[in-house]
Amino acid sequence: MKYHIPFNRAFLAGKELYYIAQSVLSGHTSGDGLFTKKCQRLMEEKFGAKKILLTNSCTAALEMAAILCEVGPGDEVILPSFTFVSTANAFFLRGARLVFVDIRQDTLNMDATKIENVITENTKVIVPVHYAGVACEMDTITDLAHRYSLYVVEDAAQGVNAKYNGNYLGTIGDLATYSFHETKNYICGEGGAIVVNNEKFIERAEIVREKGTNRSKFFRGEVDKYTWVDIGSSYLPSDILAAFLYAQLENMEQINKRREEIFDYYYKALIPLVNDGKLRLPYISSECKTNSHLFYIILKDESTRNALIDHLRSKGIQALFHYLPLHLSEVGRSMGYEDGHLPITESVSGRLLRLPFYHDIKREEQAIVVNAITEFFEQTRSREFKKKWLSEGTVSLKSQAT
Ligand SMILES: *Cc1c(COP(=O)(O)O)cnc(C)c1O
Repeated sequence: MKYHIPFNRAFLAGKELYYIAQSVLSGHTSGDGLFTKKCQRLMEEKFGAKKILLTNSCTAALEMAAILCEVGPGDEVILPSFTFVSTANAFFLRGARLVFVDIRQDTLNMDATKIENVITENTKVIVPVHYAGVACEMDTITDLAHRYSLYVVEDAAQGVNAKYNGNYLGTIGDLATYSFHETKNYICGEGGAIVVNNEKFIERAEIVREKGTNRSKFFRGEVDKYTWVDIGSSYLPSDILAAFLYAQLENMEQINKRREEIFDYYYKALIPLVNDGKLRLPYISSECKTNSHLFYIILKDESTRNALIDHLRSKGIQALFHYLPLHLSEVGRSMGYEDGHLPITESVSGRLLRLPFYHDIKREEQAIVVNAITEFFEQTRSREFKKKWLSEGTVSLKSQAT
């Protein structure tokens, strides 16, 4: 199916191709070249982070975080079920037991008031996921982490350049992870970063990312040869991808502004349908400055949501549902989770729909999306009316006959 208005479309923000050429011509296209360093420095300065290291993906950064926290069999990790599989898999790979917590109705983030109940002596890490670039209640979460001596790893894949109480997401937990996947706000195809806020992890983060060697120290002249010192893997991206990413990060504010415009347009245009009781719009808590990562609507029930997806598809518009709850996946069920365990997650997952959202989407395209949604509800209303009218007619015909 060819969509006239796709869900996502990659874009160029400026000098991506020029920087790629520069990277190739520099002769250093492997990891940790000129552009990797530029990206890291730009983000460290802007976000006020102690250490940021580019990775191949947010998934890779999450795996690093699990290794750094020394998560292993017997340890428990608290996370939402309403998230991408990598949030869970990174810790599952280390043998941890996953403890899923339900989300809040309003922000769709893990409900911080439900965390304390599931903390045990085996709990090691809490993993808040900032859904749609809207912050979790980090004050409550960091307070719990201090009281129970737990690590906090923010999955800020969707939260790059968003804020909570004035702090950039990703700078609050002990560790945090960003994504630069093609579907995120700032992109390079596949890419990510790990943010190291707890200083005790900095040296080991460099080692784990460099195949378990002290190569970074060697390049800084701190050791005279480098060697195998720890577990690790190849978690650093090619400098060619960093070159692409640098052009995006340089234009971070312009990209952010564009996304805000797209978000605001949908929001205002859909208010009549909210007033009509047809759908619900995203909620952004007052402590949070969002990065307008995505735009979702929540419908009355799953069948309405699915019918709306079909209706939009028939108009060439690609709208997508989001996460199937992890606790009800094949792996989740094998851990003993069942239907009904996390009611809000289960209900929201069936009713949520994400609208087309990309840097170059045109006003007219957004208007087409909104009109198609409005038309869908007008059609259902006239169908319901017709059905009612017809059945009333049948009744009166029958009563005449008797
Ligand atoms: C996109 C995403 C990831 C994975 O990011 P990759 O860079 O594709 O590995 C992880 N967690 C969340 C919440 C995401 O949205």
